[in-house]
Amino acid sequence: MAIVLSGRKFAKVVRLSLKKRVGQLEGPPPGLTVIMVGDDPASKVYVGAKERACKKVGFNSNVISLPLETSEEELLELVDSLNEDVSVHGILVQLPLPDHISVHRIASSVLPEKDVDGFHPVNVGKLWRGEEGLFPCTPSGIVALLKHHKIQMVGRNALIVGRSNIVGKPMAALLLRENCTVTIAHSRTTDLKELCAKADILVVAVGIAEMIKSDWVKSGSVVIDVGMNTDAHGKLVGDVDYEDVFDSCSAITPVPGGVGPLTIAFLLENTLKARVSALFGNR
Ligand code: NDP
Repeated sequence: MAIVLSGRKFAKVVRLSLKKRVGQLEGPPPGLTVIMVGDDPASKVYVGAKERACKKVGFNSNVISLPLETSEEELLELVDSLNEDVSVHGILVQLPLPDHISVHRIASSVLPEKDVDGFHPVNVGKLWRGEEGLFPCTPSGIVALLKHHKIQMVGRNALIVGRSNIVGKPMAALLLRENCTVTIAHSRTTDLKELCAKADILVVAVGIAEMIKSDWVKSGSVVIDVGMNTDAHGKLVGDVDYEDVFDSCSAITPVPGGVGPLTIAFLLENTLKARVSALFGNR
């Protein structure tokens, strides 16, 4: 019987703490600007949720919606102007971007000190070098959730399934910083089931509904499900078969209510961090 690692409950704790820290700040509140290009329905939902979350903790939030035809140059000019704007502490360019805009070029154009997504090469470098910086929100939230539940990480075998720049790779770097022994698996991994069976901490970020079954996971392991998929009935499910795996592991995140709520909470944490750094002239 597993402990349910509720991201929803932990995100509430994080938001209360953020609200308190924002109340103690001198000067203007943290300001987050989100840029959205096009009108992808899922992006609209995420951007709306980010805006509401900002308001709840006393941040200034601004959403700039641009038409799908916006050129890369126009977007770069906008990012430049936000880089210059002292009232903007965090800049987030909502993904996905249309095909004619390079995600890498845009990510590199945001000032590293305002890069609350943690996608700028400077922040990626700092993450791997073990320095302070702004790091991707989903994996940061996962590490904080593990710490909140006092789950031992030092010396444990962690397997991350998925190697995206948003989740898999930064997750590996953060768990390495916590002194886990880290393995990363991906679509070309040939012995995934065997690797899963050795993992004390299993983080799955693949995007395939309920692919991880109970006979894959090590007994007593900690299972973190990042996946967000819709099943044949339109229900939101993770990459892990929750019902099947529940009795085999010692702790597990549900979907929904697991990792999802942590991503926005740690976007707010990053924005506050960026605001505090600006205050101390670290920019
Ligand atoms: P990507 O599509 O960018 O990456 C998926 C990764 O999974 C790739 O590295 C891919 O390998 C690997 N993969 C695909 N098929 C297999 C397989 N059969 N076996 C092993 N590995 C495989 O996805 P993201 O990282 O962006 O997202 C992953 C999931 O997490 C999605 O469901 C997404 O919706 C969700 N998500 C949830 C968030 C949240 O807040 N809860 C935040 C971000 C994402 P390869 O590199 O070889 O192609």
